[in-house]
Amino acid sequence: MIFEPDTPCVNAVCPAHNREPRRDGAKPSLLIMHYTGMASAAKAIDWLARPESGVSCHYVIDEHGEITQLVPEEFRAWHAGASYWRGETDINSHSIGIEIHNPGHQHGYPDFPPKQMSSVIALSQDIVRRHHIAPDNILAHSDVAPGRKMDPGEKFNWHLLAKEGLGRWVRPFPVHADDAGLGLGSEGESILNAQKNLLAYGYGIETSGRLDAATEKVLKAFQLHFRPRRVDGRLDRSTEITLERLLEASGKRAAA
Ligand SMILES: [Zn+2]
Repeated sequence: MIFEPDTPCVNAVCPAHNREPRRDGAKPSLLIMHYTGMASAAKAIDWLARPESGVSCHYVIDEHGEITQLVPEEFRAWHAGASYWRGETDINSHSIGIEIHNPGHQHGYPDFPPKQMSSVIALSQDIVRRHHIAPDNILAHSDVAPGRKMDPGEKFNWHLLAKEGLGRWVRPFPVHADDAGLGLGSEGESILNAQKNLLAYGYGIETSGRLDAATEKVLKAFQLHFRPRRVDGRLDRSTEITLERLLEASGKRAAA
């Protein structure tokens, strides 16, 4: 397989300029899911391969499920940007990035077609097996960049991935219409506990006991992934208990 930048796209390989060696000999331990947020997969591939874009990813999966590789896995691709997970800020050096074509929230946000999801699952299973990526390390771009990014969004079917052995999923506690939860500016023990749990799972958050703007963003990121029915950044009972269940399932207990 030819992977020099400037090599024309052939057989679902489209070499991107935007790549470099992984820093400090890092190995991929995270798998990050994105959506392209562009009009078509072809446009996204073209953009991600151009030097002037300053962005790239390892794979693009179009709406029919066709997979195109842009960057070999041993290289650092430029997909995560300013991000954080469990103490690590150089997410690009530690991850493999998959761009799933979907025009995104700004452009109608269609469902992810079943054929596309099948390819996401098959490719991810292969990556996870080869790099021994842990379930808790299969993440959304929104998980590592809360507020700044919301892809792949609440329509991405993490439950389906989990049924195929990919990622961590717990049954969300039901959402009740009459439980609006706590919002921006609220303070107290339940907020402090939720912050501790979010931090223990891996999110970048301060444990202040106050639901400030940064906490609201992280709550939204958590909901986009684990409680997609209502994404409002508020701490309701459903969010609180779903988060507890996730911690329980992962074996990560927050420090009391
Ligand atoms: Zn993204």
